[in-house]
Amino acid sequence: MVQFHNETVRSALKILQTDEQGLSSIEADNRRNKYGYNILKEGKKKNYFLSFLAQFKDFMLILLIIAALMSAVIAYITKDSKELVDTFIIALIILLNAVIGFVQQLKADNAIEKLKKLSFCKTRVIRNGKEIAIDSTQLVPGDVVYLEEGDIVPADCRIIKANRLVCDESALTGESKGVNKTETTLRGQNVSIGDRINMLYSSTFITKGTAYAVVTATGMDTEVGQIASGIEEAQPQPSPLEKGLNTLGRIVSYAVIAISFLVFLIGIFVHRGTVADNFMTAVAIAVAAIPEGLTMVVTIIMAMGVQRMSKKKVIIRKLHVVETLGGCNCICTDKTGTLTENKMKVEQVWTLDGEKQSESMRRMLECMQLCNTVKGEPGKYLGDPTEIALKDYVDNIGFNIQRTEVVGMIPFDSERKRMSIAVKSSNFSRVYVKGGADVILSRCKFVEERGKVRPITNSDYNKILKANSLMSSNALRVLGFAYVDSDRPTEERLIFSGLCGMIDPPREGVKEAVEKSVKAGIRTVMITGDHSETAYAIGNRLGIISDKSQLCTGEQLDKLDGEVLKKAILNARIFARVSPKHKMLVVKTLQEAGFVVAMTGDGINDATAIKAADIGIAMGLGGTEVTKNASDMIIADDNFSTIMTGVSEGRRIFDNIKKTIQFFLATNLSEVLSILLVTVFLSQNTFLLSTQLLWINLITDSFPVLALGVEEAERNIMTRAPESAARALFSKRSVSSMLTYGVLQAIIVVGVFGYGLANYDNATASTMAFFVMSFLELFHTFNVRSECGTMFCKDFFRNPILHTTVILGIFANLLLAFIPPVSTAFGLVPLAFSQWGIIFAAALAIIPLAEIYKMAARYLLTRKKTLIKSKTVSKSV
Ligand code: ATP
Repeated sequence: MVQFHNETVRSALKILQTDEQGLSSIEADNRRNKYGYNILKEGKKKNYFLSFLAQFKDFMLILLIIAALMSAVIAYITKDSKELVDTFIIALIILLNAVIGFVQQLKADNAIEKLKKLSFCKTRVIRNGKEIAIDSTQLVPGDVVYLEEGDIVPADCRIIKANRLVCDESALTGESKGVNKTETTLRGQNVSIGDRINMLYSSTFITKGTAYAVVTATGMDTEVGQIASGIEEAQPQPSPLEKGLNTLGRIVSYAVIAISFLVFLIGIFVHRGTVADNFMTAVAIAVAAIPEGLTMVVTIIMAMGVQRMSKKKVIIRKLHVVETLGGCNCICTDKTGTLTENKMKVEQVWTLDGEKQSESMRRMLECMQLCNTVKGEPGKYLGDPTEIALKDYVDNIGFNIQRTEVVGMIPFDSERKRMSIAVKSSNFSRVYVKGGADVILSRCKFVEERGKVRPITNSDYNKILKANSLMSSNALRVLGFAYVDSDRPTEERLIFSGLCGMIDPPREGVKEAVEKSVKAGIRTVMITGDHSETAYAIGNRLGIISDKSQLCTGEQLDKLDGEVLKKAILNARIFARVSPKHKMLVVKTLQEAGFVVAMTGDGINDATAIKAADIGIAMGLGGTEVTKNASDMIIADDNFSTIMTGVSEGRRIFDNIKKTIQFFLATNLSEVLSILLVTVFLSQNTFLLSTQLLWINLITDSFPVLALGVEEAERNIMTRAPESAARALFSKRSVSSMLTYGVLQAIIVVGVFGYGLANYDNATASTMAFFVMSFLELFHTFNVRSECGTMFCKDFFRNPILHTTVILGIFANLLLAFIPPVSTAFGLVPLAFSQWGIIFAAALAIIPLAEIYKMAARYLLTRKKTLIKSKTVSKSV
């Protein structure tokens, strides 16, 4: 194997059959055919057969298998054909359950797999002599890549040219201190990876500087690929909601098992039935009422929702963040690019002498041109929008400068808020510096006016500050320009040249999105590196801030501490001229005060704050790869409005999860309750057979869940306050509605059964009870669509899948009733027309009953609100 760190740049390029101009697209395609895509192959592929078999490990299915075996044994001993039919039905139900479980699992796995693919990583590469951005999976050995601060190294590379390059290699070597990198050739045979300072390794990242490098290995051939091979991927940890549901599931399961056992004992000792019959009923109750599939259903709803979100430009990287979105009550957002277009254009230039042809103007234009890292051709520049705007401005006025050679550069970073470049020509050596106007001004000792350089005076200072303030208050982003004649890179004793103001208009729709956030009970906070007046002007236009007292600068934050600092942070709506370190302080303080914080970030230094936030948001277009990697969610179009779409979708998904859980628990409760009621009060009669219960469970657990999971958002979704997942699920209102519906359903079923017993025979009564229970549960899906709102509204037809599943469910039940061998197998008897009338009327009764309950709930809610209001009014008076 070639030790590229021992090779010179030239010989490395030669070995890789490439040059500094990179590969052609055709050659890259050929090499891709040979070396494959630049991806780390995952652990072993899932075996479908094994995952199907794994379904049988499920507690519920094990119970069913025991029941099937028991009825087979009984059939064999008693030679009873009815028992054999039961065995067959239970076996069929086992199979169907396993298939449904398997398909659901597959669906969830696929959705999660798709999520992974969405987390794209782009790299700048030279192809056909031009620098372009490509998906990093397309890289091949021999490609020449350009890397800068915040980029994740996409493959193993030999550095061709580095500029103040520092790399974080902790992912590979465990060393968290940045490593300085250069292109020098290393000598010696056994240089360890950590010491190969002319190499860059896949999965590490650039913390400072820039570099051109040639790819030496891709995919599994990289150092990290060698480590990764054979290692199974870590399983994702269950989310808080999933954990909560598991606990709930366990509690309900124990309760149900206890009740089943009770029914079993009563059946044997009070009713004097056979052990086998009563065992089957007990198993059926357990199977029907244990909410086994709950966690899986939640994962599926989330995964389906997340796929829908990706179509709306919200890419969820960590599934559990969907739960948190619903409770989010504070969004801390960047300004540039998120609230504004990030399509900058120079609007004004300003010099002390105010002349267009002066020397200071020339220096400023030179600085715009030279102190600039954008690549590409005029009109099609690639790079930082601020710098593209400067290049475009210089191009437009047709300004030509003398040829120079770059001898040093200090790249821009948001901590320093400036950038410098040292150049040399045949007759001068000069350093050009540009950055935030105030930052530059504070380093200037001289000014240039009408071709003369002289020490800066107080009056110059005031004039410059005034010009800066005027442009900023018009929402312009202001940059200052300066230079110094020196042959070494320095940013001291600068000569001030001038200012320029750029417009960066607010994005369309952001004002409305901010309004929406206010109605949704979400605070919007702007955190920006820009000047306070520019930030205020933009924030004010967007409705984020109305009063200057709500603006806080990084400098002010640095001076405060303790309670005063906390108060200032909680009061502020805009943080201006801040550094990335302040973001962490803001997140932590807001979180301590009880806020659920979503935080955006694009720069490398934002990664820690993004990780600390409850919802870390990275920008798909302008964000660095490092922040994307640290984030929970990526906004593909960098737009604030899209964050609000994410919140609204998160609320919808959570609502649907809640509806499904409520449905599950209420119907299961009704089943257990009705069996318990009959066992206690009407125990001498046969109620629901085990096969019937299993059928109801199969139909009601799979059909409606599918439909409730894709419900559209309720109309008030963004006009109500945020709710935390756990609290919403187990709130008084949720628990009481679930209990009420469960009890009501049980009363209806037992009522119809009692009526059947009083007027007809036991078989007819039990058949009627079976159909009432099946239909009731199907109709009840309409009730859970809205917690307090009536179902008779214009949204009734908004979810056609729901109507289809209910109709299919009814149809499946009618098949049981009207195909004689099937009805006999399920122990059902033919019913008269009037009896069908009673069944439908009783099943439909759950709808008006639920409406009355909701009406009462609405009344109580408004009364509570009025009470709270009047209390606050009397307090304030
Ligand atoms: P936000 O944090 O909302 O994205 P921002 O883009 O203004 O706002 P930074 O990128 O940290 O934040 O920039 C901070 C300041 O540094 C800017 O206000 C500007 O004055 C200056 N600046 C920005 N880009 C450059 C650059 N390429 N070269 C020199 N100075 C720059």
